[in-house]
Amino acid sequence: MPPINSKLPNTGTSIFTVMSALAAEHGAINLGQGFPDFPMDEELAALAAKAITDGHNQYAPMAGYMPLREAIAAKIQRCYGNSLSPSDNITITPGGSYAIYTAFTTILRPGDEVIVFEPAYDSYIPNIIANGGVPVRIPLEFPTYRINWEKVKNAINSKTKAIIINSPHNPTGSVLTHDDILMLQDLLRDTSIFLISDEVYEHLVFDGLKHNSILKYPELFSRSFVCFSFGKVYNCTGWKLGYCVAPTALTAEFRKIHQFDAFCCFTPTQVALAAHLQKEERYLNLSSFMQQKRDLFLHEMKDSPFTMLNSSGSYFVCATYEKIGRVPAMELATQLTKTMGVATIPVAAFYSDGNDDQVLRFCFAKRDETLQEAAKKLSAIERMADVFQ
Ligand code: PMP
Ligand code: GLN
Repeated sequence: MPPINSKLPNTGTSIFTVMSALAAEHGAINLGQGFPDFPMDEELAALAAKAITDGHNQYAPMAGYMPLREAIAAKIQRCYGNSLSPSDNITITPGGSYAIYTAFTTILRPGDEVIVFEPAYDSYIPNIIANGGVPVRIPLEFPTYRINWEKVKNAINSKTKAIIINSPHNPTGSVLTHDDILMLQDLLRDTSIFLISDEVYEHLVFDGLKHNSILKYPELFSRSFVCFSFGKVYNCTGWKLGYCVAPTALTAEFRKIHQFDAFCCFTPTQVALAAHLQKEERYLNLSSFMQQKRDLFLHEMKDSPFTMLNSSGSYFVCATYEKIGRVPAMELATQLTKTMGVATIPVAAFYSDGNDDQVLRFCFAKRDETLQEAAKKLSAIERMADVFQ
């Protein structure tokens, strides 16, 4: 075998795989990896089954099934007031992560710098490195997990090719405000920096807040790839279907990569979604449905030794655990899975410099009984010795 010169020499197995495997091994409740443990939208599932029996089983067009792209354009118009062309601005992708990866492949050349905020969703930095780019990491402010725009200003230089943002944010649940977006817009004006906006949690925003999509800001959108996922909207993460919205010239380049990578996506789910996306109450009700789960979990955790941090969106809420003791988050997450029967994700895994603020991430996109049972187990912890038996 020829020696392989790894493109990702410092990358191990994704923390989601690690924690889900540990949860399965110990029969633990999995509040780690972000996926619902309740059934997906039944009507949508029936439409997908029907699409298969109706014979929608051959290749879809490279950019996506046109009625689905039309339905997405109509939804964008309704939600964000932006008139986009299904032919020129919307490309269906096999998931949100693929859209992000393809956007990086489209723009990056060796040595280009990309600004990434940490904690960062775990695919971003490996995506940048695999595409020859150089990640420039900026920590979010702890514990609010907000962006310090002064730090961004200082990080921008002639090598900066792109910035990747994610709101609502995984793993912390923070959201970007209108003022944040205006700061970003000011910083990028008169530069040639691209923006990749990961908005897979667009319909999971709580407490009456509104999602500030980049699609609402024409000046910023003119330099952006905005990435979405149906998995998060219809509770079907296993469908791995998403889309990338970008200006015409960027979409044309994006498709040059996409046509020789996936070429096109699974047809039956596209056919099903084209019909289902018209029912706007399905996605408009998602925030209140998931907010109830967040609130139930926070309520059930109130007597636990965890200090719950703010979550304004996404599937996730984070917590510190000073009452349990000062122990690395990875160690605590491992022990909690083994001895208390609850799997979580150590937020330290989303930093590439070993930073550990001793925070755990909990996924509350679970059945109420799952959340109650997990919170009961976690509330039984009184001291470190209970966990490190
Ligand atoms: N970005 C973020 C922030 C995510 O949390 C996820 C997935 N959970 C994705 C992208 C990927 O979405 P998909 O599964 O559609 O690839
Ligand atoms: N996005 C999900 C999470 O944050 C997991 C996706 C994955 O397993 N790659 O937990």
